[in-house]
Amino acid sequence: MTTLPTVSTDAAVMQPETWLISGARNRQPGEPLNVAPQLASNFYLPADRDYSRAKGTETSEALELLMGRLEAGRALAFSSGMAAAAAVLNRLPAGATLALPVDPYHGVKGLALEAEAQGRWNIQRIELDNTAAWISAAQTADLLWLETPENPLMTVADLPAICGANRRTGTLIAVDSTFATPMVQRPLDLGADIVMHSATKFIGGHSDLLAGLLIVRDDALFDEFTERRLLHGGTIGALEAFLATRGARTLALRMDKAQANATELAHRLDECSDVARVRFPGLPSHDTHANAAKFMVGWGAMMSFEVTGSAGRATAVCEQAQIINHATSLGGVESTMERRAAVAGQETIPPTLIRFSVGCEDVDDLWADLSQALEATRTR
Ligand SMILES: *Cc1c(COP(=O)(O)O)cnc(C)c1O
Repeated sequence: MTTLPTVSTDAAVMQPETWLISGARNRQPGEPLNVAPQLASNFYLPADRDYSRAKGTETSEALELLMGRLEAGRALAFSSGMAAAAAVLNRLPAGATLALPVDPYHGVKGLALEAEAQGRWNIQRIELDNTAAWISAAQTADLLWLETPENPLMTVADLPAICGANRRTGTLIAVDSTFATPMVQRPLDLGADIVMHSATKFIGGHSDLLAGLLIVRDDALFDEFTERRLLHGGTIGALEAFLATRGARTLALRMDKAQANATELAHRLDECSDVARVRFPGLPSHDTHANAAKFMVGWGAMMSFEVTGSAGRATAVCEQAQIINHATSLGGVESTMERRAAVAGQETIPPTLIRFSVGCEDVDDLWADLSQALEATRTR
């Protein structure tokens, strides 16, 4: 495993966890430590900031500063992860070729299917672990959209090989890095052009907001996405930006705990006779563990596992759990799980597969909860 480089700031070089806590604050005597929610759409003229759909607010700029520096780029905050993803995808002109994983996040898949049906884009579908096909797509496609680790099978792309490959001039690589967070992987450092996060998940971390981020290093791309955000109306609100910043202060702490829990639980589930298969990038038996070991620092806190028995048992395990919440979203301090094949558009996922977002509870309490849920459903 590699170690991530430190984050440089104007003042000093500090570790990411330090920057998350100390960055993007007010610094003048008498000011509050935190940038307050600036609840405003309209500003007195003449002004650089005249209307908040254009450049957001002081509050969204604090979030952007905090998260952009974490990946040594410039961040733009959106009203959701999908608003951020749409800003990237919808810059593709008619006739463009988009290389996409076979089963990307369903919102991304929906946008691509629609554009394909209307004859606007050519979609090239590539299995995430087919590194050679991604490398050759870099010579032909206009945009490579990667999602790694991928929902819900936790496949990890060989990002260093794909992002480092020779490209046709103008081909861009975007990475949906939601499952990993900037604490686990930094695709821009590996050569990607655009990183997208659903900050709704681990970055916000408390299941109380919707937010998205794009992070880029190229100023022209940054300006283009700022314009797109303005035109699409995807700018983040000040309250969400405030909450996302507040959540992000503890991102490093939460990820440390959640990843340690996930790693321990993946090993325990892997040895459990009620479980047929565990998919977690940190398990040496995982299909794409070797890719993960190349560049991920820690393994993230997402996994999935297939229970023995019926699909009904998998649903019953989710319902029987008392501490782990039966819920679809992920990345909160609280653990959540759901049977994925029950989700619209995910019918091809193995029927007994449970996606598990591991939170920050005590690991033995989580294990006790899983054990009692598995035991109570053994007849299903
Ligand atoms: C949730 C999610 C999105 C979409 O983000 P929203 O904030 O829900 O709009 C995109 N990609 C992945 C991997 C996600 O988990």
